[in-house]
Amino acid sequence: MSAAQLHRGRLLWFEREPEGADDTEAFHYIEDGAIAVAGGRIAWSGDWSDLPAAYRGRDVVDHRPHLIVPGFIDCHIHFPQGQVVASYAGSLLEWLNTYTFVEEQKYGDPEHSERMAGRFLDMLLAHGTTTAVAYGSVHKGSVDALLGAALKRDMRMVAGKVMMDRNAPEPLTDTPQSGYDDAKALIGQWHGKGRVEVAVTPRFALTSTEAQMEMAGALAQEHPDCLMQTHLSENHREIETVAQLFPWSKDYTDIYDHYGLLGPKSLFGHCIHQNEREIARMSESGSVAVFCPTSNLFLGSGLFSLDKMRSVTPNVRHAIATDIGGGTSWSMLRTLDEGYKVLNLQGQRYHPLRSFFQATLGNAGAIGMSDRIGKLATGYEADFIVLDSKASPAMALRAETVSTLSEELFLMQTMGDDRTVAASIVSGVTVHSLS
Ligand SMILES: [Zn+2]
Repeated sequence: MSAAQLHRGRLLWFEREPEGADDTEAFHYIEDGAIAVAGGRIAWSGDWSDLPAAYRGRDVVDHRPHLIVPGFIDCHIHFPQGQVVASYAGSLLEWLNTYTFVEEQKYGDPEHSERMAGRFLDMLLAHGTTTAVAYGSVHKGSVDALLGAALKRDMRMVAGKVMMDRNAPEPLTDTPQSGYDDAKALIGQWHGKGRVEVAVTPRFALTSTEAQMEMAGALAQEHPDCLMQTHLSENHREIETVAQLFPWSKDYTDIYDHYGLLGPKSLFGHCIHQNEREIARMSESGSVAVFCPTSNLFLGSGLFSLDKMRSVTPNVRHAIATDIGGGTSWSMLRTLDEGYKVLNLQGQRYHPLRSFFQATLGNAGAIGMSDRIGKLATGYEADFIVLDSKASPAMALRAETVSTLSEELFLMQTMGDDRTVAASIVSGVTVHSLS
């Protein structure tokens, strides 16, 4: 690990979602660029030839010919599921009951949580993810371990303890009161400390009673600066069960709405099978639909449709995420690839510039942090990654015929993985490097 002050390489970052390759005002691409880092922030970025005199002569980490982009942001991932990935199950509820609810019980042991917290952050960084919004287990200690480890590394990280008071094994349940108290204690202890934050995290309507949903809503209202995260409309059996548990509801989205859980700080994982009313309500409230393509394919949940959402209302907010461990890869590159395929199956085009925007500034916007992370601009937190588009022999072979930035990005998202991430820099410090 080293704290270098100057990085040289090709730079790419976005100002907004690009319409396509010709929309050059949406992004900055600098062929020979430099980033100067001071105090964990980007002190200057631009053309190498324009480097201010104050930074000349300093030690340089020369990443050429690689591409430097802002660190990836994963908007939906489960901390206690690193060892659930690749569990053989037919669908969501079988997967939860057979593997996940068994595995998450281990996180009642603080030592296990602590050991896994380090492994979890290592895994994120090796895949180029510098910020994540994570679910803990039901145990407060799981979130203490994760946020403590993130704080030590000065990583920007959001996490919450899941609230569950029914339809789960007894060791994994809390009560409306204890769930509220533990989450409240976490907020007091961690929220806004360094770069870590706490999210209000009712797992999903299926595992919370009405009393718990009410407490979750109260907590979210009391802490309007906290994100709220939960799952919504992932699987048909889940949707039927939830309708039976909340018979008064118009639909699944209406349940969260009823408890005051919709809004611009709210992240809803999946949102696959929503009707037009639900999508309109999501948009009206500023809520974010989180697309988790590898998970949706793996669990056979269904195909997220961006066009469907945008046909109801063009300004509905969305994000993209791995959903480890229903998801099958920690890599946002693999996630973008599977996302591309899910949309392509439905005849929807998704340009690689839009993909890379989404995994960086787009996701930063979805979690209300686009003023701090997601760009390589002066004043931003110095979280960035170095991508090698010839990282594997097959990529190098394909790269021989690549001549544009868009082609290179598409190659990386289609064929890339953790081998593509040559280095990860967090708060200006190189925390992961393949060389
Ligand atoms: Zn999930």
